[in-house]
Amino acid sequence: MISVGDALAKILARARPLGPETVAIADAAGRVLAAPLVAALDNPPFDASAMDGFALRAAEATAGARLELAGLAQAGAPFAGEIGPARCVRIFTGAPVPHGADAVVMQEMTEPAGDAVTITADAAVGQNIRPRGNDFSAGDELLPAGAALTPQALALAAASAASLQVARRPTVALISTGDELVAPGRTPGPSQIVASNALALNSLLAPFAAVTDRGIVGDDEAALGAAVSAALGSADILITIGGASVGDRDLVPAILDGAGVALDFRRVAMRPGKPLMFGIRGDTLVFGLPGNPVSALVTAVVMVLPAVKAMLGLPDPAGGRLRAPLAAAIPANGPRRHFLRGRLEPDPDGTWRAHPFSQTDSAHLSSLARANALIVQPEDDPGRIEGDLVEVIGLPAF
Ligand code: AMP
Ligand code: MG
Repeated sequence: MISVGDALAKILARARPLGPETVAIADAAGRVLAAPLVAALDNPPFDASAMDGFALRAAEATAGARLELAGLAQAGAPFAGEIGPARCVRIFTGAPVPHGADAVVMQEMTEPAGDAVTITADAAVGQNIRPRGNDFSAGDELLPAGAALTPQALALAAASAASLQVARRPTVALISTGDELVAPGRTPGPSQIVASNALALNSLLAPFAAVTDRGIVGDDEAALGAAVSAALGSADILITIGGASVGDRDLVPAILDGAGVALDFRRVAMRPGKPLMFGIRGDTLVFGLPGNPVSALVTAVVMVLPAVKAMLGLPDPAGGRLRAPLAAAIPANGPRRHFLRGRLEPDPDGTWRAHPFSQTDSAHLSSLARANALIVQPEDDPGRIEGDLVEVIGLPAF
């Protein structure tokens, strides 16, 4: 049995970034840059007004001064020509600052006076003007390789490229195995259960990977062997679900072995999730996940998701954890790292606390559904009291 940290290190050592592909910027949301993004333009592209008001010469704009209105500058419709002495131009946010002007006085600091305005407070050179290039200039590196194309990042990228070099998304094949399983939507027979894991894993991984659910295969050596071999040839990551422990029907270790998968480990000191296997064949990473639904989702969050993120070239693929105070005590832990279901919730004063659930059955779906976080309790932890800081992994949320 291997520790959680060693298991993750072995997985990340194998999970190399996939090559780049080019996508139109309109299709790049949620992708990861495979090459740095360099600015093609200056931003702002011209000296722009940051306010609705009047463009003028600061030296003339002392409190009480009266300046003639010479025209209008709007976003997309600039004032042509130069502002003459003792004149100003009505200007709106985003409009180019006319030649000759070196300040914008906001509307609220003026009073209308027919075809002129009276200034009510002294102006300073540069006020309310965004100078050309003060955000960034052509040639600047805007985003590094490995940057996630979030809404914020896309807003920055929009002006610089019609298409972007992004990391190819890994293809993931899911195989559920067990004679007792029926597909979601079907009515189970007397000794059957509904297979829930592939649905959950698909939605966990779909934001980052192209997931194919290859359905349910019975506990049959030939059928499972064929399904595994077919998937191995066509996916960057193969995930089997179930058949992973040491029962007579737990065929997966032998089948992976027979298919030429070199296993790095077969068991991890974590709970839930002990019977977790990992190996490679060629360039394909192979995970053998335990069948119990909590075990399957926890191992996928803790081990598979970091591998997917590493293949996308994201920095710190196993990161994003936080610390929060416990809202209730938790009992002592044994030698396996414990990932407790729980909820991260704000108190009435807005302070977030981690509420541990007492339910630890790894087949218990309703507690899994209520959880929005996993509370991480170290190996051989003596137990914690309310208020102790603990590590927390957020589960996907809306
Ligand atoms: P196994 O790893 O095959 O020993 O399965 C452990 C437990 O998880 C058994 O109770 C299985 O019935 C259950 N199980 C296996 N696969 C799934 C699945 N895809 N969805 C829900 N439960 C499953
Ligand atoms: Mg089974």
